[in-house]
Amino acid sequence: MLSIKNLHAKIDDKEILRGVDLKVKPGEIHAIMGPNGSGKSTLASVLAGHEMFEVSEGEVLFNGKDILEMAPEDRAREGLFLSFQYPVEIPGVSMVNFLRTSLNEIRKYKGQEPISASDFLKLMREKKKLVDIDSKLTHRSVNEGFSGGEKKKNEIFQMVMLDPKLAILDETDSGLDIDALRIVANGVNNWKRPDNATILITHYQRLLEYIVPDYVHVLYRGRIVKTGGKELAQELEAKGYDWIKKEFEEQV
Ligand code: ADP
Ligand code: MG
Ligand code: MG
Repeated sequence: MLSIKNLHAKIDDKEILRGVDLKVKPGEIHAIMGPNGSGKSTLASVLAGHEMFEVSEGEVLFNGKDILEMAPEDRAREGLFLSFQYPVEIPGVSMVNFLRTSLNEIRKYKGQEPISASDFLKLMREKKKLVDIDSKLTHRSVNEGFSGGEKKKNEIFQMVMLDPKLAILDETDSGLDIDALRIVANGVNNWKRPDNATILITHYQRLLEYIVPDYVHVLYRGRIVKTGGKELAQELEAKGYDWIKKEFEEQV
Protein backbone atom coordinates (compact mmCIF):
# COMPACT_ATOMS: atom_id res chain seq x y z
CA MET A 1 0.00 0.00 0.00
CA LEU A 2 2.73 2.45 1.04
CA SER A 3 6.36 2.07 0.13
CA ILE A 4 8.91 4.65 1.23
CA LYS A 5 12.43 4.17 -0.06
CA ASN A 6 15.50 6.14 0.96
CA LEU A 7 13.51 9.30 1.62
CA HIS A 8 15.57 12.42 2.22
CA ALA A 9 14.01 15.78 2.99
CA LYS A 10 15.39 19.12 4.05
CA ILE A 11 14.33 22.53 5.15
CA ASP A 12 16.56 25.58 4.61
CA ASP A 13 19.38 23.25 3.54
CA LYS A 14 19.13 21.38 6.84
CA GLU A 15 18.64 17.69 6.14
CA ILE A 16 15.99 16.30 8.48
CA LEU A 17 14.99 13.01 6.88
CA ARG A 18 18.14 11.13 5.98
CA GLY A 19 17.05 7.95 4.26
CA VAL A 20 13.72 6.69 5.61
CA ASP A 21 12.58 3.24 4.49
CA LEU A 22 9.12 1.97 5.40
CA LYS A 23 6.58 -0.43 3.94
CA VAL A 24 2.96 -0.62 5.06
CA LYS A 25 0.56 -3.32 3.94
CA PRO A 26 -3.26 -3.32 4.13
CA GLY A 27 -4.59 -4.39 7.52
CA GLU A 28 -1.53 -3.19 9.43
CA ILE A 29 -1.05 -0.66 12.20
CA HIS A 30 2.43 0.83 12.42
CA ALA A 31 3.64 3.00 15.27
CA ILE A 32 6.49 5.42 14.72
CA MET A 33 8.17 6.50 17.91
CA GLY A 34 11.36 8.37 18.66
CA PRO A 35 12.85 11.18 20.70
CA ASN A 36 11.77 14.77 20.12
CA GLY A 37 13.28 16.36 17.05
CA SER A 38 13.87 13.03 15.26
CA GLY A 39 11.83 14.01 12.23
CA LYS A 40 8.53 12.26 12.96
CA SER A 41 6.33 15.26 12.19
CA THR A 42 8.55 16.11 9.23
CA LEU A 43 7.88 12.66 7.79
CA ALA A 44 4.12 13.22 8.18
CA SER A 45 4.39 16.68 6.58
CA VAL A 46 6.38 15.35 3.64
CA LEU A 47 3.78 12.63 3.06
CA ALA A 48 1.04 15.27 3.25
CA GLY A 49 2.88 17.37 0.70
CA HIS A 50 3.74 20.47 2.72
CA GLU A 51 5.75 22.77 0.50
CA MET A 52 8.24 23.95 3.07
CA PHE A 53 10.09 20.65 2.95
CA GLU A 54 12.19 19.81 -0.05
CA VAL A 55 12.50 16.16 -0.97
CA SER A 56 16.05 15.72 -2.20
CA GLU A 57 16.17 11.96 -2.70
CA GLY A 58 14.02 8.85 -2.52
CA GLU A 59 10.63 7.56 -3.52
CA VAL A 60 7.16 7.29 -2.01
CA LEU A 61 4.68 4.98 -3.71
CA PHE A 62 1.07 4.86 -2.52
CA ASN A 63 -0.94 2.14 -4.22
CA GLY A 64 1.75 2.05 -6.87
CA LYS A 65 1.55 5.79 -7.60
CA ASP A 66 4.35 8.25 -6.98
CA ILE A 67 2.69 10.65 -4.55
CA LEU A 68 5.64 13.03 -4.31
CA GLU A 69 4.52 14.35 -7.68
CA MET A 70 0.94 14.90 -6.50
CA ALA A 71 -0.71 17.98 -5.02
CA PRO A 72 -1.71 17.56 -1.38
CA GLU A 73 -5.44 17.45 -2.19
CA ASP A 74 -4.89 14.71 -4.76
CA ARG A 75 -3.02 12.65 -2.19
CA ALA A 76 -6.11 12.94 0.03
CA ARG A 77 -8.36 11.96 -2.87
CA GLU A 78 -6.16 8.92 -3.49
CA GLY A 79 -7.04 7.80 0.02
CA LEU A 80 -4.41 9.29 2.31
CA PHE A 81 -5.64 10.92 5.50
CA LEU A 82 -3.43 13.05 7.69
CA SER A 83 -4.75 14.12 11.04
CA PHE A 84 -3.40 17.65 10.89
CA GLN A 85 -4.22 18.23 7.25
CA TYR A 86 -7.72 19.36 8.07
CA PRO A 87 -8.47 22.96 8.94
CA VAL A 88 -8.11 23.97 12.52
CA GLU A 89 -11.22 26.17 12.60
CA ILE A 90 -13.75 27.02 9.90
CA PRO A 91 -16.18 29.60 11.24
CA GLY A 92 -19.63 29.39 9.68
CA VAL A 93 -19.16 25.89 8.24
CA SER A 94 -20.66 23.02 10.20
CA MET A 95 -18.90 19.69 10.47
CA VAL A 96 -21.78 18.08 8.61
CA ASN A 97 -21.39 20.40 5.63
CA PHE A 98 -17.64 20.20 5.71
CA LEU A 99 -17.73 16.41 5.68
CA ARG A 100 -20.25 16.29 2.87
CA THR A 101 -18.14 18.64 0.75
CA SER A 102 -14.95 16.66 1.45
CA LEU A 103 -16.67 13.38 0.71
CA ASN A 104 -18.08 14.71 -2.56
CA GLU A 105 -14.64 15.93 -3.65
CA ILE A 106 -13.31 12.41 -3.17
CA ARG A 107 -16.30 10.95 -5.04
CA LYS A 108 -15.86 13.39 -7.90
CA TYR A 109 -12.18 12.41 -8.18
CA LYS A 110 -13.29 8.78 -8.45
CA GLY A 111 -15.87 9.72 -11.09
CA GLN A 112 -18.83 9.18 -8.75
CA GLU A 113 -21.96 11.30 -8.33
CA PRO A 114 -22.36 13.46 -5.20
CA ILE A 115 -23.89 11.60 -2.28
CA SER A 116 -27.62 12.19 -1.75
CA ALA A 117 -28.84 13.84 1.45
CA SER A 118 -30.50 10.66 2.67
CA ASP A 119 -27.48 8.45 1.94
CA PHE A 120 -25.26 10.97 3.68
CA LEU A 121 -27.43 10.86 6.81
CA LYS A 122 -27.41 7.09 6.70
CA LEU A 123 -23.62 7.12 6.44
CA MET A 124 -23.34 9.54 9.37
CA ARG A 125 -25.50 7.26 11.50
CA GLU A 126 -23.46 4.23 10.55
CA LYS A 127 -20.12 5.95 11.29
CA LYS A 128 -21.34 7.25 14.62
CA LYS A 129 -21.25 3.64 15.74
CA LEU A 130 -17.47 3.78 15.31
CA VAL A 131 -16.91 7.15 16.95
CA ASP A 132 -19.25 8.22 19.69
CA ILE A 133 -19.82 11.82 18.62
CA ASP A 134 -22.70 14.04 19.70
CA SER A 135 -24.95 15.60 17.04
CA LYS A 136 -24.47 18.92 18.83
CA LEU A 137 -20.81 18.72 17.86
CA THR A 138 -21.36 17.82 14.22
CA HIS A 139 -23.72 20.76 13.76
CA ARG A 140 -21.38 23.36 15.23
CA SER A 141 -18.82 25.24 13.12
CA VAL A 142 -15.77 23.09 12.50
CA ASN A 143 -13.52 23.17 15.56
CA GLU A 144 -14.71 26.64 16.60
CA GLY A 145 -14.49 26.83 20.36
CA PHE A 146 -13.97 23.06 20.60
CA SER A 147 -12.08 21.67 23.57
CA GLY A 148 -8.98 19.54 22.93
CA GLY A 149 -11.00 16.35 23.36
CA GLU A 150 -13.77 17.60 21.04
CA LYS A 151 -11.25 18.50 18.34
CA LYS A 152 -9.76 15.05 18.63
CA LYS A 153 -13.19 13.44 18.35
CA ASN A 154 -13.94 15.62 15.35
CA GLU A 155 -10.71 14.58 13.66
CA ILE A 156 -11.29 10.88 14.23
CA PHE A 157 -14.88 11.21 13.03
CA GLN A 158 -13.56 12.86 9.84
CA MET A 159 -11.26 9.91 9.42
CA VAL A 160 -13.99 7.27 9.63
CA MET A 161 -16.38 9.33 7.45
CA LEU A 162 -13.83 9.89 4.68
CA ASP A 163 -12.71 6.28 5.12
CA PRO A 164 -9.22 6.62 3.63
CA LYS A 165 -7.01 3.68 2.71
CA LEU A 166 -4.22 4.92 4.94
CA ALA A 167 -4.53 7.21 7.96
CA ILE A 168 -1.46 8.92 9.36
CA LEU A 169 -2.07 10.29 12.81
CA ASP A 170 0.58 12.52 14.33
CA GLU A 171 -0.18 12.46 18.02
CA THR A 172 1.99 15.21 19.38
CA ASP A 173 2.72 15.13 23.07
CA SER A 174 0.51 18.09 23.89
CA GLY A 175 -3.18 17.86 24.65
CA LEU A 176 -3.42 14.11 24.80
CA ASP A 177 -5.27 13.63 28.05
CA ILE A 178 -6.75 10.26 28.91
CA ASP A 179 -10.08 11.03 27.19
CA ALA A 180 -8.35 12.08 23.98
CA LEU A 181 -6.24 8.93 24.09
CA ARG A 182 -9.36 6.79 24.34
CA ILE A 183 -11.07 8.64 21.50
CA VAL A 184 -8.12 8.10 19.19
CA ALA A 185 -7.65 4.50 20.29
CA ASN A 186 -11.33 3.50 19.97
CA GLY A 187 -11.60 5.23 16.61
CA VAL A 188 -8.54 3.49 15.19
CA ASN A 189 -9.51 0.10 16.63
CA ASN A 190 -13.12 0.28 15.43
CA TRP A 191 -12.10 1.51 11.99
CA LYS A 192 -9.41 -1.14 11.43
CA ARG A 193 -10.18 -3.53 8.56
CA PRO A 194 -8.15 -5.88 6.36
CA ASP A 195 -8.20 -3.29 3.58
CA ASN A 196 -7.03 -0.20 5.46
CA ALA A 197 -3.96 0.79 7.43
CA THR A 198 -2.85 3.27 10.09
CA ILE A 199 0.47 4.90 10.87
CA LEU A 200 0.44 6.23 14.38
CA ILE A 201 3.16 8.71 15.22
CA THR A 202 3.60 9.05 18.92
CA HIS A 203 6.18 10.15 21.41
CA TYR A 204 4.68 8.14 24.24
CA GLN A 205 4.06 4.48 24.70
CA ARG A 206 0.82 5.14 26.62
CA LEU A 207 -1.32 5.36 23.49
CA LEU A 208 -0.04 1.91 22.52
CA GLU A 209 -1.65 0.43 25.62
CA TYR A 210 -4.96 1.02 23.85
CA ILE A 211 -3.94 0.41 20.25
CA VAL A 212 -1.88 -2.69 19.60
CA PRO A 213 0.45 -2.00 16.68
CA ASP A 214 1.70 -4.74 14.37
CA TYR A 215 5.03 -2.95 14.03
CA VAL A 216 6.87 -0.37 16.08
CA HIS A 217 9.58 1.73 14.44
CA VAL A 218 12.05 4.05 16.09
CA LEU A 219 12.89 7.13 14.08
CA TYR A 220 16.12 8.73 15.21
CA ARG A 221 17.99 11.55 13.51
CA GLY A 222 16.01 11.17 10.33
CA ARG A 223 16.21 7.40 9.92
CA ILE A 224 14.31 4.36 11.10
CA VAL A 225 17.00 2.76 13.21
CA LYS A 226 14.99 -0.02 14.81
CA THR A 227 11.83 -2.01 14.02
CA GLY A 228 10.06 -4.51 16.23
CA GLY A 229 6.70 -5.66 17.47
CA LYS A 230 4.61 -4.15 20.24
CA GLU A 231 7.20 -5.24 22.81
CA LEU A 232 9.61 -2.64 21.43
CA ALA A 233 7.26 0.10 22.64
CA GLN A 234 7.28 -1.44 26.12
CA GLU A 235 11.05 -1.62 26.07
CA LEU A 236 11.22 2.07 25.12
CA GLU A 237 8.83 2.94 27.92
CA ALA A 238 10.94 1.05 30.44
CA LYS A 239 14.37 2.15 29.20
CA GLY A 240 13.71 5.54 27.60
CA TYR A 241 15.49 6.67 24.44
CA ASP A 242 19.03 7.04 25.77
CA TRP A 243 20.11 3.56 24.73
CA ILE A 244 18.87 4.21 21.20
CA LYS A 245 20.85 7.45 21.13
CA LYS A 246 23.99 5.69 22.40
CA GLU A 247 23.65 2.77 20.07
CA PHE A 248 23.00 4.81 16.98
CA GLU A 249 24.75 8.15 17.35
CA GLU A 250 27.93 6.62 15.96
CA GLN A 251 26.22 5.12 12.96
CA VAL A 252 23.80 7.83 11.91
P1 ADP B 1 9.63 15.25 15.88
O1 ADP B 1 8.25 15.32 15.35
O2 ADP B 1 10.24 13.90 15.82
O3 ADP B 1 9.74 15.82 17.25
P2 ADP B 1 10.23 17.23 13.86
O4 ADP B 1 9.97 16.59 12.57
O5 ADP B 1 9.19 18.15 14.39
O6 ADP B 1 10.58 16.13 14.94
O7 ADP B 1 11.60 18.04 13.76
C1 ADP B 1 12.80 17.43 13.29
C2 ADP B 1 13.87 18.50 13.14
O8 ADP B 1 13.51 19.41 12.13
C3 ADP B 1 14.11 19.32 14.39
O9 ADP B 1 15.48 19.54 14.52
C4 ADP B 1 13.37 20.60 14.10
O10 ADP B 1 13.98 21.67 14.76
C5 ADP B 1 13.51 20.73 12.59
N1 ADP B 1 12.39 21.45 12.00
C6 ADP B 1 11.11 21.02 11.93
N2 ADP B 1 10.33 21.94 11.32
C7 ADP B 1 11.14 22.97 11.00
C8 ADP B 1 10.94 24.26 10.39
N3 ADP B 1 9.73 24.64 9.97
N4 ADP B 1 12.01 25.06 10.24
C9 ADP B 1 13.24 24.68 10.66
N5 ADP B 1 13.50 23.50 11.25
C10 ADP B 1 12.48 22.66 11.44
MG1 MG C 1 8.52 17.36 18.31
MG1 MG D 1 6.43 15.85 16.16
